[in-house]
Amino acid sequence: MSKHSDLLDFTMPPELEEVGALIREICEKEIVPRRADMDEHEKFPYEVLAKFNEAGISGIMYPEEYGGTGFGLSGSILFSEIVSEYCLGVNTAFSATSLGALPIQHGGTEDQKKKYLSGFASGKMIGAFGLTEPNAGSDVPSLSTSAEKKGDRYILNGTKQWITNSGVADVYTIFAITDKSKGPRGMSCFIVEKGTKGLSYGKLEQKMGIRCSHTRQVILEDCEVPEENLVGLKPNRGFIHAFQTLSSSRPAVAASAVGLAIGAFKEAVKYARQREQFGKNIINFQAVQHMLADMATRIEQARLMTYRAAKYAMAGHSEAAKYSAMAKYAASETAVAVANDALQLHGGYGFTKDYPVEKMYRDAKILTIYEGTSQIQKNEIAAHIVKESATWK
Ligand SMILES: Cc1cc2nc3c(=O)[nH]c(=O)nc-3n(C[C@H](O)[C@H](O)[C@H](O)COP(=O)(O)OP(=O)(O)OC[C@H]3O[C@@H](n4cnc5c(N)ncnc54)[C@H](O)[C@@H]3O)c2cc1C
Repeated sequence: MSKHSDLLDFTMPPELEEVGALIREICEKEIVPRRADMDEHEKFPYEVLAKFNEAGISGIMYPEEYGGTGFGLSGSILFSEIVSEYCLGVNTAFSATSLGALPIQHGGTEDQKKKYLSGFASGKMIGAFGLTEPNAGSDVPSLSTSAEKKGDRYILNGTKQWITNSGVADVYTIFAITDKSKGPRGMSCFIVEKGTKGLSYGKLEQKMGIRCSHTRQVILEDCEVPEENLVGLKPNRGFIHAFQTLSSSRPAVAASAVGLAIGAFKEAVKYARQREQFGKNIINFQAVQHMLADMATRIEQARLMTYRAAKYAMAGHSEAAKYSAMAKYAASETAVAVANDALQLHGGYGFTKDYPVEKMYRDAKILTIYEGTSQIQKNEIAAHIVKESATWK
């Protein structure tokens, strides 16, 4: 197990710093001029993703043997934080591929990794992760999508709800029940490719925020999946794949919350420096300064928790899931609070589409809902406390 001191060192390798500068440059050039239009018209960010791809950034989290740059979770954290400062929707559209890839990365066979991780890393394939169902959101163990073995195929039936990149993605990792008698332990994960017979999509959901990322149902009607597309080729391991995926992706969601909060904070400071009331710029009022101080402090807390959770996840630490839940909970609530204060500091102008804080405020809310609501993160943290405290003297 890693030493505590190693787990608190957040130094970034210089080559990752350089990648960060490149990501920021692309965001300034490609996202800023387009984000209001993409939001208004729900345009999927194909052009922006193409620019990341041209710059060799699509493979940021994937291992080198599959064509990635091998930065792993550090790469996801860096990407999510910077891109979400500019547009959480773009980050969600990009990161849904990584989310779809994680069950394969954690549990796939060598052949599955070669085919799909290389496809994602090269930017040729867009991915999606299908766990949630209309009647199984927080209550994942109650999911009912079924996968029945028939000869050399599995026949999938069911509906997945709120799936990011549904309809856009080339590859879907879909969780379904292979052995009902085992309850949630009878769940498996399948790789379903676009064009598979019996796979279709619901309507584009009309969302209040992250509107450039597309969300639809995934509908499986006698969908025939070849047995070689069962992740890891072993049935009934889906619960572990889902748990490993969410534990390792939550720090990246926390990073996106930190990024959104930084973006909203910067907008608030910029505005407060130039908005004049009572004969001075509003940044000179102590009440405004205190709001900014609170925002900056909360961001710093959330950022440190996020980096620490990422370190624990990368080290495979036994408490990684707890720290991931804490970071996701703290950072997402921070993003909502900071976006709210940033809008408040814009007064009436913040309530219009003339300033980016209006969009940031709408976008922020999803952070406390997807990949486990704040209540579910607290349940997870509390479960750890109950377990750990049983051995306290
Ligand atoms: C825009 C968007 C994109 C998404 N993308 C994906 C995706 O790509 N893939 C995917 O699989 N899913 C995705 N989701 C689904 C998302 O993860 C779920 O919406 C989320 O887990 C909550 O489930 P639910 O919406 O069914 O809410 P519910 O589970 O019905 O929760 C309703 C309320 O009850 C509370 N609650 C429920 N159970 C408990 C409990 N035990 N204790 C305390 N409070 C509780 C919740 O916190 C919440 O406040 C997405 C959702 C959205 C909105």
